This record gives sequence, structure tokens and C-alpha cells, in this order.
Amino acid sequence: MDFDQLRQAAHAVVAPRDLSRFASAGGVGAALASASGAVYTGVCIDTACSMGFCAEHAAAAAMVTQGEHRVVRMVAVDGDGQILPPCGRCREFVSQLHTDNLDTEVLVSAGTVATLRQLLPFDWRTEPTDGAPSTSVQAPGSPS
Ligand SMILES: [Zn+2]
Repeated sequence: MDFDQLRQAAHAVVAPRDLSRFASAGGVGAALASASGAVYTGVCIDTACSMGFCAEHAAAAAMVTQGEHRVVRMVAVDGDGQILPPCGRCREFVSQLHTDNLDTEVLVSAGTVATLRQLLPFDWRTEPTDGAPSTSVQAPGSPS
């Protein structure tokens, strides 16, 4: 499934609605294409006290429920069909579901695709291999 089809699948589940006095859902839809070629969709759930979660999170949960965890490509859109790049939590969350998910392709804007690896620079999983310090100690903005 290409990104146009995936974007349509994400938009098809967008349906903003109140669930209760304290919760709403459906303002954002996400679609994930898995390794099997299946497409999983989800919507955001927003609650009081910040207990909700993003559409990507919901779609990933649907995928894992069906026994899959490798995401090949993903996209999220709002009610106007505008592409929304994943938040930092969703980038990290999806990247941890499968080792190869750092290569997941994400449509971050019309015509622009980035991998989760590109969206997660300075990955905490990266181990220094040459014994050298993994970071230099320099205050931001100080002369180099
Ligand atoms: Zn998110």
C-alpha cells in the first residue's frame, strides 16, 4: 500500500466526537502498513488529566493485537486530511516495537518521507564502539 492509500485509510477513520464530559476522540487518524501488507488504523483519544493517547499509538495497539509488530510505513492526518508528523512519544514507541522499525518510513509532509531513525537523532540505543566518549561536553552556544 502506497502513501496515498495509507493517507486515505487514516483520513477515513477521522471522526471527532465527545465520548464523555472528560474525553473526546477521533480528531486525528493514523494508518500503519505492516510487514504482512495489512493496514491498521487508529484514532487519538484525548482525556482530562492527560491520560489519552495518539492515533499512531492506537493503530500500533491494533497491529500488535493481531500479532504483528513490524511497521513498514505510517502516516497520520487531521480532519482536513493534513499530514501530521508523529510526536516524539510515538516515534519512540513505534521504534521500540520491532528492531527494524527504525527503518519505518513516515510521511511527515506532502512528498516528504523520513525514517524513524532520521526522526530520532542521537538515539539512546547507540553505543560508542571505539571507546571514545559518545558526547562532547560543551555548553550550547559556547564558542567552538
Ligand atoms: Zn503521538
